[in-house]
This record gives sequence, structure tokens and C-alpha cells, in this order.
Amino acid sequence: MRYYSLNRQAPDVSFQEAVVKGLAPDRGLYFPKEIKPLPASFFENIENLDNATIAYEAIKQFVGNEIPEQDLKEIVAEVLSFDFPVNQVEDNISVLELYHGPTMAFKDVGARFMARCLGYFNKDKATKEHVTVLVATSGDTGGAVASGFLGVEGVDVVILYPSGKVSDIQEKQLTTLGQNIVALEVDGTFDDCQTMVKTAFLDDDYKDKRSLTSANSINIARWLPQMFYFFFAYKALKSKNKKLVFSVPSGNYGNICAGMMAQKLGLPVHHFVTGTNANNIVPNYLETGNYDAKPSVQTISNAMDVGAPSNFVRIQELHDNDISKLRKNLSGYSYSDEETTAALHQLYDSVNYIADPHGAIGYLALKAYLQNETDVHGVFLETAHPIKFLPVMPKSIADNIPMPPQIEAILHKQKKSIEISNYEQLKNYLLS
Ligand SMILES: *Cc1c(COP(=O)(O)O)cnc(C)c1O
Repeated sequence: MRYYSLNRQAPDVSFQEAVVKGLAPDRGLYFPKEIKPLPASFFENIENLDNATIAYEAIKQFVGNEIPEQDLKEIVAEVLSFDFPVNQVEDNISVLELYHGPTMAFKDVGARFMARCLGYFNKDKATKEHVTVLVATSGDTGGAVASGFLGVEGVDVVILYPSGKVSDIQEKQLTTLGQNIVALEVDGTFDDCQTMVKTAFLDDDYKDKRSLTSANSINIARWLPQMFYFFFAYKALKSKNKKLVFSVPSGNYGNICAGMMAQKLGLPVHHFVTGTNANNIVPNYLETGNYDAKPSVQTISNAMDVGAPSNFVRIQELHDNDISKLRKNLSGYSYSDEETTAALHQLYDSVNYIADPHGAIGYLALKAYLQNETDVHGVFLETAHPIKFLPVMPKSIADNIPMPPQIEAILHKQKKSIEISNYEQLKNYLLS
């Protein structure tokens, strides 16, 4: 499969090049040149297929012959070695839980897939050409990337996180792994971390010394596997014979955009809903037609504190850059922290479900959309386990969250990080 840059000022590349580069040289995001729908028989039979088979069928055209069938099947099976349960919480609402992976964040799947692809492309190189994955995190991405890449040969991972601004559990997930994972603790905000990473990608001084790539959802190998979730939910809910609506709490819009790719492959999706926190760029665009990216504001759903959603250009491409087409397929709503907290209480009190702040926004947005729709079934995506957001969960709920074993296991491990406060220090580290 060939990929083109959405800025259209760079040559087409293979899957491998797109994964290794991350971003095109013209700073555009890569996008597949062709999207072929899956055969009708696939959807007719989907209830008889296991997750790995469904995922392989969905992803294979995007990889092409660059990873042989058997290897790709193994990669996909390893990536998906945990559950993706769908639970009904109200008559017309189910929740798709995407947090049963090793770091309890939905980003586990994309990070694990990307890591294994890079590992595969590296494995035959006589002189292992090291790739450095550089990533800034506000909390959730870093842990998933660190765990996904742990022990992958030929890949070093450098994670920047804002000191004192991630939860204790998230910090442990970033700083206790060792091996090929290094955590840089930045005296600053998430935006400072992100700026340093962007500066590094534009800095020519690393040429010939380090090959830097990103593990954010701009990378196609992080982004595309997120399609799988939507197929799994369809399989689980098919027997309801209802039109499906997906509500996705969104920040960089990679997850929901992957759902739209699944729809392009023929998955019957009636409509998408996006829920955001105060960073309401997309809902605002859908309402007014004006796209105003702006500096992010801090909220309790901090994995979605994004003021310039990077994948939105892919969503526009999927809708022929036509806002009227987009409005037919996507509705958007935004919520304050107070409304988010109220939704956490509502879910807990009325249906005894413990959501996290991101999932709660997905739930609110779905409820808003369903007010004018009957005869559909709504699914909101739960993107992280609530234990990871303990400091912002209402105490009465937080006290009742059981400690999952994969979190318990890291709590007593020793934190290891390198403190930095400016770009020069990052550069010195990367060139050392
Ligand atoms: C990253 C993240 C999101 C947002 O996903 P995007 O693909 O960036 O829109 C939502 N919830 C949680 C918990 C996340 O970590």
C-alpha cells in the first residue's frame, strides 16, 4: 500500500516508510492512497470470527505485502491478547471498554502494533539501525507507548512528561520499566514537552546521528489498528439488529477517525458522535463552520486537552473536505468539568457503572445525540480505566474502585527519571 501526504508536497511512500518517518517531510500526515471495502460475506459472518481474524482482515490491505501474512497474523494476535468487552448500561446504550490492556488505556493496541511493526522492519538489518521514538505525554500516551515498546530490539523510547502534572499511577507506568525506555521529567507543562518534541523533529542536527520518529496517532501504525474496536463492537451488538451510533471521547481525533476508516471498509455505522471537554474546536467547527485551533486548556479529562487536533485533517479527507458531508456523519458536543463529574455520579448512582472522566464525556455526548433519535443503539467508548485518574475522580466513587493487578504490580517499583528543563538539555541527552 502506498501513502500520500495530506499536504501534497512530498512523495508517496510505502507502509514501512510511513511508519518509520511518522510525519511526511512536508509536515503532512500520511493517508492511504486506496481504501477497498471488505466483502459483504465478512460482515455476514463476523460473529464466527475471532478478534485476531477480524483485525487481520481489516488491516491487511494497509500493510500490503510488506509484512508477510503469517507474520502479520502473529503480530495482530499478540497485540490483541486481552478483552474488549461490550456491556449494556441502558436500554439503548452500551459501553465498549478499551482499557483491559497492560496499561489500561485504549492506546495500548496502537502502541503495541506500531512497536511490533518497527521491530519487524528492524529484525533483518545486519547493522541494527536504531530508531528513537520520541513522545510527549500528558499522562496516558506515555505509559502505553513505554509498555508497547518495552524490549523491542533496535528501538529506543524517550518519553517527556510534565513534572508533578501526571497522576502517581501514570508516573509509575512511565518511569519504572527500564530497558530501552527512558523517562525525561520536564520542569514545565505538557505544552512545553510537546514543543520540545516538535523542535527536535525539525532540528537537522540529529541527521546521521539518530533517526527520530513519533508514536503519536499521527503515525499510521498507531492510528489504523484503532479500527479494530469498532468491528468488535459491531460483532457484539449485531444480533440487536439496530443501527449503531458510536460516541468517542476525542482529543487528537485518531480514535474516532479510525472508526470512520472502519466505516469506509463497509462497517455499518449509522452515525458518529464526538464528545470533548472545554477544548471544543471540532464541535465548534461543526456548529459554526469556523475551525479555530487554539492553545489547550487544562481539564479533568486531560488526555483530551488538545487545542489543535492532529488527525482532523484525516477526517476531512475521508469526507471529501466537505463540511456538509461531515455534518451528516458526525455530531459534536462539549462539556465542562462540572458536567463531567455529574455524569460520573449519574452513571454510578443509576446503573452502578464506574466510568473515567473521558468515558463520561462520551456518555454525555451520546445521551445528547440520542434525544432526537429513536430506533438506534448507541455505544460509548471507555478509553481508560478510572484508576488512572484517581486524583480527579469524585472521592465517593474513587473509594470503590478495585485495584487492578497490572496497576498493583507497579506501585512499589522504584521511579527512575532524568530531570530536564529546556530544549538544550533534551538535545544533549539525545546526542550523548
Ligand atoms: C488519548 C485519549 C483520548 C483521546 O483519543 P484521540 O484519539 O486523541 O482522540 C481519550 N481518552 C483517553 C483516556 C486517552 O488516553
